[in-house]
Amino acid sequence: MSTTTDIKGQPLDRAFLDGLLRRRLFYTPSFEIYNGVSGLYDYGPPGCALQANIIDLWRKHFILEEDMLEVDCTVLTPHEVLKTSGHVDKFADWMCKDPKNGDILRADHFVEDVLETRLRGDKEARGEKIEEKEESDAKKKKKKTKGQEAIKLDDEVVKEYESILAQIDNYNGEQLGELIKKYDLRNPATGVQPTPPVAFNLMFQTSIGPSSNLPGYLRPETAQGQFLNFHKLLEFNTGQMPFASASIGKSYRNEISPRAGLLRVREFLMAEIEHFVDPEGHKKHHRFGEVEDIELVLLDRETQLSGQTTLRKIAIGKAVKDGLVDNETLGYFLARIHLFLKKLGIDQSKVRFRQHMANEMAHYATDCWDAELLTSTGWVECVGCADRSAYDLSVHAKKTGAPLVVRERLETPKVIEELQVEIEKKKFGPAFKKDARAIETALLDTTQEQREKLAKELEENGKVILDVAGVADGKAEVGKDLLKIEFRKRTENVREYTPNVIEPSFGIGRILYSLIEHVYWSRASDGGDEARSVLSFPPAVAPTKVLVVPLSAKEEFRPLVRQVLQKLRAAGISSRVDDSSASIGKRYARNDELGTPFGITVDFQTIKDGSVTLRDRDSTRQVRADMDKIVSAIQTLVSDSKTWQDVESELPKFETQELEIR
Ligand code: AMP
Repeated sequence: MSTTTDIKGQPLDRAFLDGLLRRRLFYTPSFEIYNGVSGLYDYGPPGCALQANIIDLWRKHFILEEDMLEVDCTVLTPHEVLKTSGHVDKFADWMCKDPKNGDILRADHFVEDVLETRLRGDKEARGEKIEEKEESDAKKKKKKTKGQEAIKLDDEVVKEYESILAQIDNYNGEQLGELIKKYDLRNPATGVQPTPPVAFNLMFQTSIGPSSNLPGYLRPETAQGQFLNFHKLLEFNTGQMPFASASIGKSYRNEISPRAGLLRVREFLMAEIEHFVDPEGHKKHHRFGEVEDIELVLLDRETQLSGQTTLRKIAIGKAVKDGLVDNETLGYFLARIHLFLKKLGIDQSKVRFRQHMANEMAHYATDCWDAELLTSTGWVECVGCADRSAYDLSVHAKKTGAPLVVRERLETPKVIEELQVEIEKKKFGPAFKKDARAIETALLDTTQEQREKLAKELEENGKVILDVAGVADGKAEVGKDLLKIEFRKRTENVREYTPNVIEPSFGIGRILYSLIEHVYWSRASDGGDEARSVLSFPPAVAPTKVLVVPLSAKEEFRPLVRQVLQKLRAAGISSRVDDSSASIGKRYARNDELGTPFGITVDFQTIKDGSVTLRDRDSTRQVRADMDKIVSAIQTLVSDSKTWQDVESELPKFETQELEIR
């Protein structure tokens, strides 16, 4: 139940902003003339340019900065791979059904929505102020809601609801079902309680090839392709550890209830990093010192479990030292994610890092934090950053026999004394015949602890009895004459280990939409017209950098406009011309809506001396100079090496035009 405001502190009208973004073709529903399919969107020119610029920044910030190894793996993935990774069995959300109208509901969202509506009703009944956006949503919901008027709740109940909401991501299907029953949660559309939650696998299934005998899926994440290429990448990296791979590509999830525009879709662009690290030595990071003083806003696990959402600001160095964040490598990436979001123009007061609670985390994960951004729909997970331990490489290696390990030559060989199993081969085969292989494998697979017990058994009873799958009765008896278990010394020259993986995983669409909300505001117009929308993207990220506007449609302006465009192109700066007959103020306003940070006006003075004016989108102030100086000023602004204030102090101010659009 959070609201959000624009840059100027005004409540953000999401419906209006969404209308603007569709009208200006940032994005549009796919297949719209066929009535569309929910959760699928196409990006138009400004959306594509914005996405490309975010990706460009991402590549520079992560791949280039850290020498990561980029791969581009296939989307189509055989069943066996995703069975081994656990996705076939576990990549699911909880779903329930309204028995009256057949509505399919995502269980956690349903519980969240109904409890939030009740809390809003309680606030209303207590006569407490409901903020503008909350109120309009509450009104909308009320229209559809049966039996959920503004009802005052007991203080205890309010506390219980708030506590459930604080840890909503921690409940499994059964627990969500219990909440639905306990609090008699009903579908607002029908007033009926939905069925108990069942697991719904989110992967899109398909079959590969014409004979349909190779079942597969569209990948739900880019990670598996990176894991499967681990050994080749390690060799490419001349065996050096640690190193990271990275991948940018589409992922697919059959979301139960896609909602909120680009925030929950069924096809989305992901940018993922798999950083492979030696688990010995507490996963230290050699560049941690560079980031340790960076302060992050954290919402830790304990706070959420106590039913609170209190945030605390803490330096990442201290968070790792105190054990709040599990290790340096994980902490390093949290800080790097923070810096990336800052560079993009994300509002720093709308970022938090939320730690996963135990149930929410995959069973193999050691620690996991999400970078969440505050939007008009509440806090949204935009980047996940998990320590996946050695899980993925281990399961794929076990299944395929591939050596997904690191082998390091030891400087000083290690002498190890351990219990070894020795089999009397000549007698073993004839004694067990077809079962010999399985029994031998079972014996060799035993741990040191198991061997200790078996050695004792062998000495005391002259034989051991052990569980072996696939033999008669599932047990085998092996006598002293066939087996020895004794302490022996061996020398190891090579250390072999499975690396652990730290995985920062970015949802580019979510970041793109949140960024738009964070840079959106509306400018009051001097002429008393409607307020005009502005998207204040940082220049490096803005879809188009410069708008070129000739003041007049006269023939003599054309070669000058061409000259400006040529110079901009030569400098690698994207631009658009607006030579329509609209007033210059209108033309600038249209491009403020697209987030174009700079405008060049070609006017009558240009004909005389070749000078042009340069307008800054956010302040609407202008400077004037010759074309070359203006183009190089824009270059420094786009590359972030100068600010508008710097440019204003270096070039002559220009003050006559533009009053109409301030
Ligand atoms: P996950 O693997 O679930 O941690 O997801 C990684 C990232 O992908 C998240 O942090 C989101 O930014 C993004 N993401 C996940 N699901 C969706 C979706 N349905 N629509 C858009 N982005 C998504």
